Amino acid sequence: MFAFDNSYARLPERFFQPVYPAPVAKPQLIRFNVALATELGLSPEVTDAARLAAIFSGNAVPTGAEPLAMAYSGHQFGQFNPQLGDGRAILLGEVVDANGQRRDIQLKGAGETPFSRRGDGRAALGPVLREYIVSEAMSALGIPTTRALAAVLTGEPVYRETVQPGAVFTRVAASHVRVGTFQFFAARGDTDGVKALADHVIARHYPEIAGEHDPYLALLSAIAGRQAALIARWLSVGFIHGVMNTDNMTVSGETIDFGPCAFLDEYDPQKVFSSIDQRGRYAYGNQPGIGQWNIARLAEALLPLFAGNEEENVSAANAALVEFGRVFQESWLDAFRRKLGIEGEAEGDLALVNDFLQLMHRGEADFTLTFRALGRVAGGAADLMLEAQFTDATGVGDWLSRWRARLADSATSPAGRQATMAAVNPALIPRNHRIEQAIQAGLSGDFQPFERLAMALERPYEDDPQFADLATPPRREERVTKTFCGT
Ligand code: AMP
Ligand code: MG
Repeated sequence: MFAFDNSYARLPERFFQPVYPAPVAKPQLIRFNVALATELGLSPEVTDAARLAAIFSGNAVPTGAEPLAMAYSGHQFGQFNPQLGDGRAILLGEVVDANGQRRDIQLKGAGETPFSRRGDGRAALGPVLREYIVSEAMSALGIPTTRALAAVLTGEPVYRETVQPGAVFTRVAASHVRVGTFQFFAARGDTDGVKALADHVIARHYPEIAGEHDPYLALLSAIAGRQAALIARWLSVGFIHGVMNTDNMTVSGETIDFGPCAFLDEYDPQKVFSSIDQRGRYAYGNQPGIGQWNIARLAEALLPLFAGNEEENVSAANAALVEFGRVFQESWLDAFRRKLGIEGEAEGDLALVNDFLQLMHRGEADFTLTFRALGRVAGGAADLMLEAQFTDATGVGDWLSRWRARLADSATSPAGRQATMAAVNPALIPRNHRIEQAIQAGLSGDFQPFERLAMALERPYEDDPQFADLATPPRREERVTKTFCGT
């Protein structure tokens, strides 16, 4: 089924532990992502649900797979943990997709590995459904992310705060190399390991820098740039990752590990959902600063490979961190200019964006609906359409005058602007309460809400009347105030 070519398995032995998935009692397919399977070039002969369930539960390991658990470390909430690794995930192998991109196929929840700490190596149904919904939604929103290939019930219970049905999630990623993977070798003083990993990552994700004078410094800058751009995209859709530990940050620039993640309903830059993030380290508005902090940890790991003397290397690493800030700021402003329908660049743009966000914060305006409504106003709808999003709309009229003045010298028609704004301001995001409802139904054996939500989120920029209920914010009693890792 898979034309495996496993480059990670060819790295030195200390990079991973070979381990086979532990078979499950009664695999049952919940969902298989046919579009993604096609993109991956998986041979289409397998359409039988029972066969797919056997493969994506780990019961039938496909030919050519070299299952392994990757070693990594990581800073978790600022504390360094030298020994993490795939404790409930097993990499089956890699395939080269239809676009020539190498992709990892990984089973999450496939049983114990040598890196399982305390845990059982299994995954509960709730987190599996959440990751499926959110990762596919992020992809449809156009944000770099790991993908969901399959979700399968194991037929076995897992014991968390409550007993839940067990499930296995198949994740597809450009790679699973994390900032924490570099830290694993750096923490052991294993500079050869850091170098072998850096060479692997350059070949795999940044082939264009291979010939540079100082490729490892160029690697740091390239990773920093992709992460900065990624986090700007998160903020542009109101995404809160929730657990931006260095082991949950890829070096490919894809979003990974959808644990206690959530989306803003009303705009609040300090918003936190994760039950374990008591100090708000990973609050919505802190994400760029944390991204930069994580890249600083990557810089420390890579530093011994840089070409200069120590002083030069430290100053080069600092320059890369400054560059992270610049790329973030530029990407963020670019994204928010688009959200306002602004073309080109003008002096007051930053203030225009910030003032709008401030009004939204004060007026408890729904992040998604407000930008969508602004697009309608651009197309000729009454200002009231927008003002209705604010509990306190004082100042919104004045702001709209400034915004119109900024748009005035553009030749774009109102309808044209509405269309371009609708292409960047989604109508649908995976609202926390809808995810929760889909999970609750799934836990009682009804996967219809999950199916429907997944289907609706394939086209997040369209106003589809049949999914209108999924676009609205929660009623008071539907609100999700806390999210959980559920590991
Ligand atoms: P995460 O919070 O998912 O990023 O995981 C942090 C660490 O805990 C990683 O090393 C995981 O592999 C490990 N871990 C998480 N869940 C489990 C589990 N159910 N069994 C064993 N190890 C786990
Ligand atoms: Mg993780």
